[in-house]
Amino acid sequence: MISHAVSTELMHTISRQFNTSLDLDEVMGQVLRLTVEATKATHGSLFLLDEQGRVSRYILARPEQAPEISPHNLEKVMAEGLVGWVYQQQQGMLLDNIATHHRWVKFPDDAETHSALAAPLLHQNRVNGVLVLRHEQPHYFDESHLSLVTGIAGQAAIAVENARLFSQIRHERETLDALITGMPNPVLVIDAEEKIIFTNAAGRQLLALTQVDHPALASVEGGLILKAALKELNQNSTSSTREIPWSDGRIFNLSLNHVARLGTVLTLNDITELKRLDELKSAFVETVSHDLRNPLATIQGFAMLLEMENLSERGRSNLSGLLQGVAQIQNLIQNLLDLARIGAKMDEQIEPCDLTEIAEDVLGGFELQLAEKEMTLVADLPAELPWVLGNDLRLSQVVANLVSNAVKYTPKGGRITVGLSYEDGEIRLAVSDTGPGIPPEEQDQIFERFYRVPMMENSEWIEGTGLGLSIVKAIIEGYGGRVWVESEMGVGSTFICTLPALPDMPEE
Ligand code: ADP
Repeated sequence: MISHAVSTELMHTISRQFNTSLDLDEVMGQVLRLTVEATKATHGSLFLLDEQGRVSRYILARPEQAPEISPHNLEKVMAEGLVGWVYQQQQGMLLDNIATHHRWVKFPDDAETHSALAAPLLHQNRVNGVLVLRHEQPHYFDESHLSLVTGIAGQAAIAVENARLFSQIRHERETLDALITGMPNPVLVIDAEEKIIFTNAAGRQLLALTQVDHPALASVEGGLILKAALKELNQNSTSSTREIPWSDGRIFNLSLNHVARLGTVLTLNDITELKRLDELKSAFVETVSHDLRNPLATIQGFAMLLEMENLSERGRSNLSGLLQGVAQIQNLIQNLLDLARIGAKMDEQIEPCDLTEIAEDVLGGFELQLAEKEMTLVADLPAELPWVLGNDLRLSQVVANLVSNAVKYTPKGGRITVGLSYEDGEIRLAVSDTGPGIPPEEQDQIFERFYRVPMMENSEWIEGTGLGLSIVKAIIEGYGGRVWVESEMGVGSTFICTLPALPDMPEE
């Protein structure tokens, strides 16, 4: 019989013990020792069980006396022994005389045991361990021992679960650490004061970081470049990206993510090689396009000479087909050259431009086409709008490409509306038509090079290269603007471009 005072004192000591350390072996060893001492048992042991009910650890009150327990013995204990029974039944048990009990599996250090007690470590309906006390006298343990040890086992069950969760979190954290540390891309985290609170190895190398704890971003190598880029990145969005040139000639794509309670995560992607390839590709396209132009002009010249000859009806028709083909190739080459030049920001003089005047000029050039297709043109071009920064010819190209598409894709008799307006510091150009519309899933793609919406069955083939809108996008974005389409199937499409408006009108 164990006294109430001893039980209460022991439960207190043990619950304090569980709060001192997260090292399971150490805490459980100590708890076992305290329990053995208080109950004056001969031996104390703890079987920790995994989710499949297999013994994952065997802890002893006196590890120095630990016998060699074979895996076979541990399996037997679970299959036939007392520990297995307690696990299955989820309740404690007293064995008054082991000599007469079939459920006792003898361990090598059991010579002196005659009675035993076992209690489950029960947590949320699952037994994650079994605590066993042994004594050399038969009938040593009574119900008071069992209820005390059951209480201790209940607390131990919580400690085992906490340790399991802790080790799971630690494992996940270590995996994540290894992943980020080993990443070839520099990653850094900065706090609200722009202090670097975390970097991986690649980040430390890039910023030439020494051991200084949490240095200010501005004080490290390349920090000012990053600071400037950060200012320009969209601070309101949770993530955005930007290209930045590094002092050693490399080019990085900087992406920024705001993570709540952590800070701002900056990830740098080395895109130097990609940029070089892109430049090579543009140079290649430009050279090839140039070289194609001359022989094409020669073909055109000879074909025009042929036109003056006395040709048969058939010959004339063939010649006109040939000249049409030449014109198409010339158009494609011109578009390719334009894209290469716009991308490389070549041959451009940037100056304040009056979009109203530009749009009026461009629309004048469409009169004939509009009349041929019996189309109505509505132009809403206010005279007193602020100007924009750009190149006259390129901006004309934007308006011309959009209007030309509207005319091309809208059936005979349709209506085209071209409007200019000023809103929130931006000039907005909108070109609407009453054409077939563009399916929602195609609306982003049509701005990609060479992309054309697949033709609907039975619809008439419309000539095109798939480059017009990518040219519009390259020009507008080059001047700091945006372009998108709003469209409804069967109703029509509106292409909208915005450009930053200049604050002052230039003196005439
Ligand atoms: P292209 O007109 O030479 O094919 P674009 O780049 O100008 O190339 O346009 C890409 C595609 O977008 C077109 O092939 C067409 O499918 C679609 N598109 C462009 N403008 C319109 C429009 N106003 N109405 C319907 N579809 C359009």
